[in-house]
Amino acid sequence: MAKKLKFSDAWKYAEAPESAPCAIASEYGLFIDGDYRPASDGGLMTTLNPATEKPLAQFAVGTSQDVDDAVKSARAALPKWKRLPAKERGKYLFRIARRLQERAREFAILETKDGGKPIKESRDVDIPEAAKHFFYHAGWADKLDYAFPGRSAGPVGVCGQIIPWNFPLLMAAWKIAPALACGNTVVLKPAETTPLTALRLAEVFQEVGLPRGVVNILTGAGETGASLAAHPGIQKLAFTGSTDVGKILAKTVAGTGKRLTLELGGKSPNIIFSDAAIDQAVEGIINGIYFNQGHVCCAGSRLFVQESILEEVTTKLEIRLKSLRVGDPMDKNTDVGAINSKGQLNTIRSYIRTAKEEGARHCQVSNGKLPSKGYWCRPSFFTGVQPSHTIAQEEIFGPVLAVMSFRTPEEALKRANNTPYGLAAGIWTDKGAKIFEMAARLKAGVVWCNTYNRFDATSPFGGFKESGFGREGGRQGLRAYLELV
Ligand code: NAD
Ligand code: MN
Repeated sequence: MAKKLKFSDAWKYAEAPESAPCAIASEYGLFIDGDYRPASDGGLMTTLNPATEKPLAQFAVGTSQDVDDAVKSARAALPKWKRLPAKERGKYLFRIARRLQERAREFAILETKDGGKPIKESRDVDIPEAAKHFFYHAGWADKLDYAFPGRSAGPVGVCGQIIPWNFPLLMAAWKIAPALACGNTVVLKPAETTPLTALRLAEVFQEVGLPRGVVNILTGAGETGASLAAHPGIQKLAFTGSTDVGKILAKTVAGTGKRLTLELGGKSPNIIFSDAAIDQAVEGIINGIYFNQGHVCCAGSRLFVQESILEEVTTKLEIRLKSLRVGDPMDKNTDVGAINSKGQLNTIRSYIRTAKEEGARHCQVSNGKLPSKGYWCRPSFFTGVQPSHTIAQEEIFGPVLAVMSFRTPEEALKRANNTPYGLAAGIWTDKGAKIFEMAARLKAGVVWCNTYNRFDATSPFGGFKESGFGREGGRQGLRAYLELV
């Protein structure tokens, strides 16, 4: 008789570590005016690999003097850059995109080591999407007048840009590509736990001969960001990160005449109707909340399931959870990598504790042994969640899902919209009419229908309410980097 197959046998994989070389220097400077230099006071910080807790490199911490130098360099580069024939600006963007593709494997490894995300995500999503943003905006550079017919489009000026650690290179691309296409110059500050891919992008700028000062990369932490935001020499500030810092920045620029776009947090609803294709919906739920360890501003962190299928969905979810491979992000089989930092891990753990104290039921399965070092959190979900529970209201930014049920579409809408955020939403149903009705009434910048967490450079992304304002991507995203007359 054939041996009975155990669940754990069914998902055995051979290890498949990504082993290509990727050189990392022991120290990185600030990229100002086309060259790397140390901070004015010599200050350094260390960036770790969150999967091993081992230091990867040290990087310079930009002081207010350095911010001033970077802004001056961007200001000096502006007149020539904006007067360049638009198709020449487009060519630089094309070259950057192609070079990113050529160096894609190296960038993917660096992204995974510095941030903890699975190599298959940085390889298949982060780096290709970053290249796509440069390609897409290369195409716009000489067509801006067609984007806004009847108006004359010119750059805003020097743009300060501050980005988070969840998609380090991709967020840099989202910010830099449209700014350059529109003839602006840039000072960009990466997040302090993930500065390495932005610094390597600066190498690409050198390789393609981008004129000095057009993009400056200023590493550092919150203080460096704050002094960039407050610098009188920038005409626009673009920020992606927490709602708390977004609120501070809104105050910083109030009354200065600076343009501002904010892409902040979310608590996005994923709504599953009983007429949905259930297995596909379960995949969508998994991708919605466990992609990038849940470090996704538009994560589908509130799941609403129609009551008649609640048990079926949660049962399938639990089975699917068991097959997710958690662990070494450099292994090509890994689905869930390391949490980006110890601080973020502590935040997630404290939300899990609170949820248990408030009476929700925790479902967490053991999917293999975790490495002894590193910041790990097994993916899980909570059932029995009440709308008043903390995990139904606050952004966790980790692989933790709050499952709730509903009876009617009206009830689903009311509860889905009952949040201070409004970044994204998902709808799963077989009925087109239901999709249109729900999508029109959901207060969210992006609504996915029978899919989740799909991105495209041609499609605008951004929020309502406390999720921020302004759009990135598409024709709408250009608007933030143009002065129209
Ligand atoms: P954060 O908002 O503090 O960091 C984002 C960026 O802003 C980083 O580059 C940081 O150095 C910079 N920054 C911090 N303080 C600043 C200040 N006062 N002035 C200017 N710049 C400043 O985010 P975090 O502390 O890393 O994460 C906290 C929470 O934020 C997370 O748990 C998550 O809920 C949320 N978050 C959201 C996103 C998103 O994409 N919307 C991204 C990261 C974090
Ligand atoms: Mn790091």
